[in-house]
Amino acid sequence: MRGNESTRLNENGALFVDFDGTLVEIAPRPDAVVLPAGMVQLLATLHTRLGGALAVVSGRPIAQLDAFLAPLSLPAAGLHGAERRSASGVVTRLTPADLTQVVADLQALAAVHAGLLVEPKPGAVALHYRLAPDCELLAQQVMQAALQRSPGMVLMHGKMVIEMKPAAASKGRAIEAFMAEPPFAGRRPLFAGDDTTDESGFAVVQAAGGIGIKVGPGPTQARHRLDTPTRLHAWLQACADQTLEPS
Ligand SMILES: [Mg+2]
Repeated sequence: MRGNESTRLNENGALFVDFDGTLVEIAPRPDAVVLPAGMVQLLATLHTRLGGALAVVSGRPIAQLDAFLAPLSLPAAGLHGAERRSASGVVTRLTPADLTQVVADLQALAAVHAGLLVEPKPGAVALHYRLAPDCELLAQQVMQAALQRSPGMVLMHGKMVIEMKPAAASKGRAIEAFMAEPPFAGRRPLFAGDDTTDESGFAVVQAAGGIGIKVGPGPTQARHRLDTPTRLHAWLQACADQTLEPS
């Protein structure tokens, strides 16, 4: 762990974790990610040890997170915060925008550019160019044009992906909402994430006296860094095994 503060996750902490690029390595296609062996059990242990104050905060829909993490059904924010399931199981959602035409236009584009991948989501859409890196500029131009006819939306440029999501949703706001409720309220928040969409979460936890951990390379406002999801996994395991103790 690089950084200059105590990063011990103790039993007074609240843990927020991104999914892709953080708990799992990014795969060529979003549906091809593989959860590391033991991750579900580790998250279950941490969830119990933290009194339930553990949430996954992702750009994926919550339903996908549940499928990967079954049988766990953790507190979760999906779609960059556009949907959220509290610790008591209450789900709140922003009203999804109708992106039917945007998705159709992107799919028409992908049909003639091999490697471009359109990922429609409820009220959001991602255009992946991981398999067609030469298409980055084209993807930017097309998504920028789509944004012009999509009021209330913003673009997020992530790792080989450009995503349109509701302007009112952010991971930072989702974490704030969790922190206003039990069992998160009053705890010291820690958030680990790997991509641009996670920066709002780092800002929120650090403003609350908590810990931001950037996973992997790249500029960040997080004050700590771990090089890979594997290192994060090892650190979380160490927290669960040894250092998860009162401060
Ligand atoms: Mg990520």
